[in-house]
Formats: sequence, C-alpha cells, structure tokens
Amino acid sequence: MDKQALVTVRGLVKHFPLPGGWLSGKRRIVQALDNINLDIVQGEVLGLVGESGCGKTTLGRCILQLIRPTEGSVQFDGDELTQLRGDTLRRKRAHMQIVFQNPLVSLSPRRTIQQSLTEPLSTHHMPREEWMPRIDALMQRVGLGIQHLDRYPHELSGGQLQRVSIARALLLEPKLLVLDEPTSALDVSVQAQIINLLDELRREIGLTYLFISHDLSVVEHLSDRIGVMYLGKLVEIGNTEQIMKQPSHPYTKALLQSVPRVGSRRMHEAPLLEGNVPSPINPPSGCRFHTRCPIAEAICQQSEPILEATGAAQWAACHLTIKETL
Ligand code: SF4
Repeated sequence: MDKQALVTVRGLVKHFPLPGGWLSGKRRIVQALDNINLDIVQGEVLGLVGESGCGKTTLGRCILQLIRPTEGSVQFDGDELTQLRGDTLRRKRAHMQIVFQNPLVSLSPRRTIQQSLTEPLSTHHMPREEWMPRIDALMQRVGLGIQHLDRYPHELSGGQLQRVSIARALLLEPKLLVLDEPTSALDVSVQAQIINLLDELRREIGLTYLFISHDLSVVEHLSDRIGVMYLGKLVEIGNTEQIMKQPSHPYTKALLQSVPRVGSRRMHEAPLLEGNVPSPINPPSGCRFHTRCPIAEAICQQSEPILEATGAAQWAACHLTIKETL
C-alpha cells in the first residue's frame, strides 16, 4: 500500500472467561477474536461487517483499548497501545474516538448537551477559552445550532442525538473514529443523512474511520475497503468494489445475497445462509464456517484456512476459493 497504516493489528486474540467451572477444572471461555491481522490506512474508511456476535464490536473496542486484548499487538500512530497505561493511554485516546449505536452511551440523560460536550474538553485540560468556539463550530458543522446546547437528550430526536455524538467525538480533533453501528437505530431517511455527514467530515478533515455494521449495503456506501468477520475470524478483506462485485469467500457471497437491491433478482431470492452462528464457546474445528457453508468438503472440518490473496487487493480464508484461484 502507498499510504501509511495508522492502525496495525497483529495476532489479536480476545477471550472472555465465563463464571463458574472452577471446581470441575473446566473453565468455559468465549473465544471472541482469534488471530486477527489487519491494517487501517491513514485517511481510509475500513468497513467491518458480519452477523451479530461475529466479534466486530469487540475488535473495535480492543483497538481502542476499551477492552484489553488477551494476546497480540495494536499499533496506533507508531505507539504500541497494549503497553500503554494510565495517563499515557488517556492522552493517546484523545486521538481515537468512538461513536456508539446508542448516543446515550456517551451523553448523560441528566446533563444538558453543552455539559456533555464540555466534559471531554475539561478531562483533557483544553484551555477554557477554547471550549465554546470549538463547541459552536462543531454544532454548526453537524447541522445543529446553539439553541440545542441548553436542551437535555430526551428533548432531541434520534438523528439530532447522533449528530451531537459525532460532534462530541470530534471535539479533541481525533485521527481515528470507530463508528460502531452509528445508524442502526435510526430511520432509513435519517440514516442516509448521517452517512452523508460522516462522508463529508471524512473528506473535509481527512479522518480515518473503522465503520462497523451488520448491514453490507450501508458499509458499501462509505467504505474504501471491507473486512468480513465470522465467529471471531477475519474471513475476507479487500477493496469495496472487488468485494461487492466478486466476493471470494462463501460467507461474503451469502451476506451479499441477502442484501436487497432494487431491480435485482436478489430481492426475490432466499438468503443462502441457513442456521445460526455456532457458539464462540466451542467453535467448530477447521474452518469455523463449515457447519453452514454450502460448498464445504471434508478438508474444511480438519484444517483451518488462512487468509491468502485471491485478487490484486483481496484476501480470503477458504480452502476451495484458493484452489480455484490457483
Ligand atoms: Fe466453506 Fe470450506 Fe471454504 Fe470454509 S474452507 S468457507 S467450509 S469451502
């Protein structure tokens, strides 16, 4: 790649031990992430998709160190984040912000919008005279006005609250925004407005996004590249156009099949995927997708595929796709 990676993730593993099992000696562990390797290039939007429970939100939080990984490395802007603690990590966090699906995670219902917006500026010791100019400029930029500052969250609509969350995330001039399903709770018309706002902001400010969504059609609109996750594994990654036109992995193909497109036969076809995602406590052997894969063969249960190139800028983890490509 020509551009420099802002985020480099290597060998990332996250296990969540479940309570109990200490008497029998059989502790149960949720294997949320397994050996994730990816780069997020400066200025790009990397979309991350997959069904609920695939680990995409955990990955976003492990990158920000909101959840500490069990193993592996996360480099951000040249620093190894897994080694940082206390004030050093807090200072670094000013450059990496998150927008949640539910704006009320970052906005207290008991505080006015202005109080919620001044809090990060105060925490990061921003000079007091800079607070209001920054807040006013960002409120305007996200399409709100100073008349909204004295209101409480319950007095704003869902779309307005998400605009405030975006303004709050931008107050400290971050380099990276993790957008965790930022439009999933909104009406379709408001979703489009928020996606357009995020797109404009990215172009104006030169931000880098990790855009997490279960909805491939939303991710497609904003992303330069797309990563596809299944049961804690990254199973395909590549340029958006290539992934959408010529997906390599059977799981990506199935996800695409389920995206409704006007005028396309896909609107009327049944989704290819059957059954539920298996439990991450006891994931299937070999390829984790083999229990649902429509083209699985014997090798798929025995041996785990690794990400290999299937195109000029596309990688997939599938024994059979690789065989076809060679
Ligand atoms: Fe399907 Fe086998 Fe490829 Fe896994 S490795 S996606 S089971 S064909």
